[in-house]
Amino acid sequence: MAYNDEALIPFADDALADPGQTWSAAVWQVLIVDDEPDVHAASKLALKGIPVEGRNIAFSHAHTAAQALTLLSQPNDFAVALIDVVMERDDAGLQLVRQIRETLDNKALRIILRTGQPGYAPEIDTIRQYDINDYRTKSELTQVRLFTCLTMAVRSYAQIRQLEAGRRGLEQILAASVELGKPVGLKKFASGVVTQLCALLNVEAQCLVCAAMNPSDQTPYVLAAAGAYDAWIGLPLNQIPESRVRDSLYQTLHARQHFLHDGASLYFQGYNDQALAAFVDVQRPLQALEKELLEVFCSNISVAFENLQLYLNINDLAYNDTLVHLPNRNALVEAIDARNSVEETVALLDLDSFADINSILDDSFGDAVLQSVAHKLRAAFPAETLVARLGSDLFGLYGPAQQVTPEKIAAVFDDPFAVAASEPLRLSATTGLVRLQSSAQTGLVTLKSASAALKQAKRLQRGKSLYFEATQADAARDRIRMLNHLRTSFSEERLFLHYQPFINLQDGRIVGAESLLRWKNTEGQFISPELFIPIAEQSGLMIPMGEWVARTAMKWRASLKGQVDANFRVAINVSRTQFAEPDFAQKFLEILDEAGLQGSQVEIELTESVAIENLEDLAIKLHILRGCGIRVAMDDFGTGYSSLSVIQRLQLDHLKIDRGFVSGNQVGEESFEIARTIITMADHLALTTIAEGIETQQQCDALLAAGCQEGQGYLFSRPLAETDFLVWLQDLRTSR
Ligand code: C2E
Ligand code: MG
Ligand code: MG
Repeated sequence: MAYNDEALIPFADDALADPGQTWSAAVWQVLIVDDEPDVHAASKLALKGIPVEGRNIAFSHAHTAAQALTLLSQPNDFAVALIDVVMERDDAGLQLVRQIRETLDNKALRIILRTGQPGYAPEIDTIRQYDINDYRTKSELTQVRLFTCLTMAVRSYAQIRQLEAGRRGLEQILAASVELGKPVGLKKFASGVVTQLCALLNVEAQCLVCAAMNPSDQTPYVLAAAGAYDAWIGLPLNQIPESRVRDSLYQTLHARQHFLHDGASLYFQGYNDQALAAFVDVQRPLQALEKELLEVFCSNISVAFENLQLYLNINDLAYNDTLVHLPNRNALVEAIDARNSVEETVALLDLDSFADINSILDDSFGDAVLQSVAHKLRAAFPAETLVARLGSDLFGLYGPAQQVTPEKIAAVFDDPFAVAASEPLRLSATTGLVRLQSSAQTGLVTLKSASAALKQAKRLQRGKSLYFEATQADAARDRIRMLNHLRTSFSEERLFLHYQPFINLQDGRIVGAESLLRWKNTEGQFISPELFIPIAEQSGLMIPMGEWVARTAMKWRASLKGQVDANFRVAINVSRTQFAEPDFAQKFLEILDEAGLQGSQVEIELTESVAIENLEDLAIKLHILRGCGIRVAMDDFGTGYSSLSVIQRLQLDHLKIDRGFVSGNQVGEESFEIARTIITMADHLALTTIAEGIETQQQCDALLAAGCQEGQGYLFSRPLAETDFLVWLQDLRTSR
């Protein structure tokens, strides 16, 4: 065969551009398809050195339709094909055209058909259908004609490519806007801009994006980059080593506009004076169409950027604590929700006495304390442990079980905290911890459990750590339910008092009565004060409730005037929260006054837990009360921890032997021996003893024999309602 494969090598005889290059290339590539070698030579000769539309022509040659098809199937940028109609077959050229348009789906290539004989002219329909530019007999194609023909074809090719590129560009911009409109982090957004810009401008990967912060803020730095610029990610703008790139970006940021010279330097205005600048190393002048596309791209990206910033700001507010710059409660909840390991622990820690710090010193000092704690906590745990602030002085930790432990948390508070200009400050925290046991446990439920454990820890002791046990949750829920019911009952005046007589064991006379609070819930059940009083104490409800008890009991005592001895005393139980009130003594005396009673007609029963806390304060209050003749008894004696010195310091009148040492016990048993010891000891201290819970005559006799003066218990009477008490009194009188 005369036409060897060498002819298949495209552009073999011309100085040619890279085959992969785009439509903006500096030459027009023209393919001559003809089985006559002379035609190839003649065509080249006719057009050699004559630029068409400002560019030279680079020829490629195919001698059969099959060769042409092979060439056109490869990546190429042929603008025009001059195709012979008759080659291997009579219609080889026409078949080739059909394959170009249909099989290769190449709609841009301009086609000029040539034939030796006019008889082979294609139908006009075929010309239209396959978008054939021109049809000529070879003899018709003089040099001038050929040039004109080619010029027309090249022009139309350029237009088609321009339109195609515009459409593709717009499609890309649309896709980029969709892609970049997603709420992602700023870095991801920036690297998206890099990718999309490179694609739009058909640049391999020499592109970077720089972030500009608020002018007052830090210097702009490289957020994302591609290609050789990759190494610059994270660099401040002034450290970019290539001055061309650096200057161009500075210029763009300062002028707030694009600069489209040898590299495209683009400006994206964001929200709140923040901006991005991007530099694309295009290394060629940009086409008018490219510039237009860039305008559209940039304005779309600016909108997406602004939206992203708003999203990030909202996100920041929603997930970060602005005071101490730690993640907040939402972030902690979400992190727990998203976990995939169960070997983890969540801890809540509450600073002890933070309210005091805040009230003694000013708020800004409190803020500085919180910041210092936040800083130390963050530094004390590895990055995988989430450290959050949940509000006020409450911090949260979430991380591997071996990291988040009471010991590691306590160690943070070992050393004093440096706060502003103040003396180093010693702080402690109380902690509630939860071991995450199942992956189904949600963040919210976990935090509830941790906070139940924290509450429990606080009740026990400040500075303590406590792990959550599942049963705590149920108990906590029950307590809250009970408290709500109790509150309602109290406000609806459905609480009442029962009175249980005190008897002089020696002569069997009644000397007084203890008032005992009673609560019948809505289902008509009596709830034990041992259950509801601690709940009322924790909630603060005990204050008004205790006041009501004192007033009611004293009124009742006043109502007994004439029916009992003048020194008959009503005993009132006073809980520790009541005693903690600064004006407790004054209030109590006011109530006494209101009821028109003598101090000697009233007795206060303290429990040992009251006595342990704040001994000095208690002593002062008791001193005032005793000064007015009110007697004081230590209740449930023997169950707590009060030392002899405490009893002496408080100047008591009576010790009440706890019913645990009396009821149900047989004389001679060990607990009864404790009762006996208490009596002896009280005797030494010149205190009277009252035995609670006397149920049998035998107990009564033994207590009397041991020297106990007074007693109370089912043997004499159960606690009684007002009217029953009157009946009981009546019976007592008649029985004598
Ligand atoms: P407490 O002050 O030691 O009251 C004596 C408790 O012993 C009463 O229980 C009483 O019903 C019970 N008791 C009396 N005699 C006997 C007996 O022979 N055998 C037995 N087994 N028990 C007997 P209650 O009424 O359930 O009160 C329990 C506790 O609730 C009281 O113990 C007291 O600490 C507290 N409490 C009751 N009312 C008030 C109140 O108004 N204020 C405060 N702060 N606490 C109250
Ligand atoms: Mg009592
Ligand atoms: Mg008692």
